[in-house]
Amino acid sequence: MHCLKTMDPQVYKAIAAEVKRERNTIDLIASENFTHPAILEAQGSVMTNKYAEGYPSARWYDGCEYVDVAENLARDRAKKIFGAEHINVQPHSGTQANMAVYFAMLKPGDTVLAMDLACGGHLSHGHRQNFSGKYFNIVSYGVNKEDERIDYNEVESLALKHKPKMILAGASAYSRVIDFAQFRRIADKVGAFILADIAHIAGLIACKLHPSPVPHAEFVTTTTHKTLRGPRGGMIMCRKEFAKKIDSEVFPGIQGGPLMHAIAAKAVAFKLALEPEFKDYQKSIIANAKRLASELQKRGLRIVSGGTDNHLLLVDLRAKKINGKEAASSLHKANIVVNKNLIPFDPLGARLTSGLRLGTPSVSARGMKEDEMTQIACLMDGVLSSCEDKKTIEMTKQEVVKLTKKFPLYKELTA
Ligand SMILES: *Cc1c(COP(=O)(O)O)cnc(C)c1O
Repeated sequence: MHCLKTMDPQVYKAIAAEVKRERNTIDLIASENFTHPAILEAQGSVMTNKYAEGYPSARWYDGCEYVDVAENLARDRAKKIFGAEHINVQPHSGTQANMAVYFAMLKPGDTVLAMDLACGGHLSHGHRQNFSGKYFNIVSYGVNKEDERIDYNEVESLALKHKPKMILAGASAYSRVIDFAQFRRIADKVGAFILADIAHIAGLIACKLHPSPVPHAEFVTTTTHKTLRGPRGGMIMCRKEFAKKIDSEVFPGIQGGPLMHAIAAKAVAFKLALEPEFKDYQKSIIANAKRLASELQKRGLRIVSGGTDNHLLLVDLRAKKINGKEAASSLHKANIVVNKNLIPFDPLGARLTSGLRLGTPSVSARGMKEDEMTQIACLMDGVLSSCEDKKTIEMTKQEVVKLTKKFPLYKELTA
């Protein structure tokens, strides 16, 4: 980044420090990942300069012949990965992807049945300050008190009672398989359509390590930067009959010019996702999450629902007599980043929480395997058992730095 270094040393320094932070930190934030250097190059390219309102071969501007190549590659590759009939790669984020589906298919005030945020749903599934909660009548389903899994009987009775137009299936903090076929069965009983939001589990679905919603749902949205390991962004898949409606809701409905540099980077991410190594990577994410869960259990921490089927786990901290906020902040001091999270039926509010959400996409991306998960569980347990002890935190931090050095990140970046 020679040009940036001389032209804007302040921004350069912040980026260089961020590279260093990522290298020296154990990142257990379930929604994060380390994208490929080729994706960073595509995203940092001149395609950021181009206005391309519209879609390939039907743009409102001239000079789109090369950005069209990028968008067509992204669409074709995504179709191949997920087997969807139609793909829109223009949403700037997962929230925008969801917004396009809501606005294309619903009228303000329509009823939507979605997962309760306190049980793992996302802000765009009905938070009162989000567009979804402001403009739509949200009815929420949660998880069962006994097994902390989605209760499909509850989903069904809520659907029969409230007759939603749309049922949203998907979550940000749910560690078990989502049964999209059950959602289809329920939706058909009340004539609702389904939006499956696979933002978190898209990488697993791409590799058939989690059942796909594509055969069951009219609409599937995702982010491209979580388990899918691409650039930050969103995407919509839908059946052919809704293609026009979705495309015109994304543009000109809720967005202007697409981020063609991000779309080029999405194309690269999808090429990588089609390679056999990507499946090995996704398998290691799951194996690592299972190991991390069982090692934390061995150390007396309860894992919500008893374990995990995917890339994330929710830890119930109550046995350690600390809350999520304190735990996350102590771990951060030891270079382990996680996020506090509500656990189902949490006695504390969203500001404190009784839980942590942990995910393995990032640690798996840098090559860590199950042995390292055991080591990480041990380091975490040390900090959580003595949050106030500065010496423990300092010693843990040194161990973390030592461990991360064994799994170097972004060797090609000179910062
Ligand atoms: C992360 C996430 C999104 C949206 O993410 P953005 O931050 O808007 O890109 C949407 N739905 C779910 C379930 C998510 O986890």
